[in-house]
Amino acid sequence: MGTIKEPETLQEAILYFADRENCREYLTARRWSDGVTCPRCGGKKVIFQEKYNRYQCGASHPLRQFTLKTGTIFEDSPIGLDKWLTAMWMVVNCKNGISSYEIHRALKVSQKTAWFMDHRIRLALKQETESPLTGTIEMDETFIGGKVKNMHKSRKPKGPGFSGKPVAGTAAKAIVVGMLERKGRVRAEVVVERTQPVLHAIIETHLGGGSTLVTDEWGGYKGTNFQHEIINHAVSYVNGLVHTNGIENFWSLLKRGINGTYVSIEPFHLFRYIDEQAFRYNYREMADMAIKDADRFDIAVRQIVGKRLTYAELTGKEGATAPF
Ligand SMILES: [Zn+2]
Repeated sequence: MGTIKEPETLQEAILYFADRENCREYLTARRWSDGVTCPRCGGKKVIFQEKYNRYQCGASHPLRQFTLKTGTIFEDSPIGLDKWLTAMWMVVNCKNGISSYEIHRALKVSQKTAWFMDHRIRLALKQETESPLTGTIEMDETFIGGKVKNMHKSRKPKGPGFSGKPVAGTAAKAIVVGMLERKGRVRAEVVVERTQPVLHAIIETHLGGGSTLVTDEWGGYKGTNFQHEIINHAVSYVNGLVHTNGIENFWSLLKRGINGTYVSIEPFHLFRYIDEQAFRYNYREMADMAIKDADRFDIAVRQIVGKRLTYAELTGKEGATAPF
């Protein structure tokens, strides 16, 4: 095998990545298009040791051996690339996201392992290099609540992003601020409070010169250096282009994913779900831009390198033992 065409559907992906040689071909073409390079010294004198399914660098230094997983979100994981890549295909191509329970059942890994995999995949989906948003930018905030009832005291949400003190039995609301470029990209992040300094800092970071901001009447948006159109909710019709329907549509996608797909989401991990939903949104299928499932997957795979998430980092518990 190894020469069959690259997958375009989930079914094809499962079959394709079941073959070790295909995984290698697919990943090396994206990670090392100029030839395999040692992740430790950058050397190109590398041989592939077929028997061990690993590479060895020709230079003399410690840790000369490496695999396709070295230096990626898959690092140190005994889970095969067949499962990793299938899970990744599912996450990037299911519109409302996919729960760790679904991955657990589909790939026959433990639920805890699936949850850990899911979060590593989300790390890959996080947008790294960002050019400023331009044109007309809709900006809005939303509140995402999680029930803190029955949650152990040490796990109750606290710190950045959570308004007020969570009380058992009530919902702790996280504030999410989002910006959407008309017919373009979305950005969203969890914030501590929706005050003017917080909102203005976000505007300064993400908006390109000459952009026009569209918001509701919330005072936190007022007084920026950008041209600013404010929706008057007292007027019952949408005033032409002065609306925030785009970002509101993103909020409903995000909430549908969180409420429908994820059995329970700890507020501490909310930003990861936002990264995941924003990735799918930013590479969605649009009338004038034909992004197919295979393209979206390709983009995600190119983002796996140089990122690492340990179980201790993910759970915030030092010395926590990974499920794999
Ligand atoms: Zn080397």
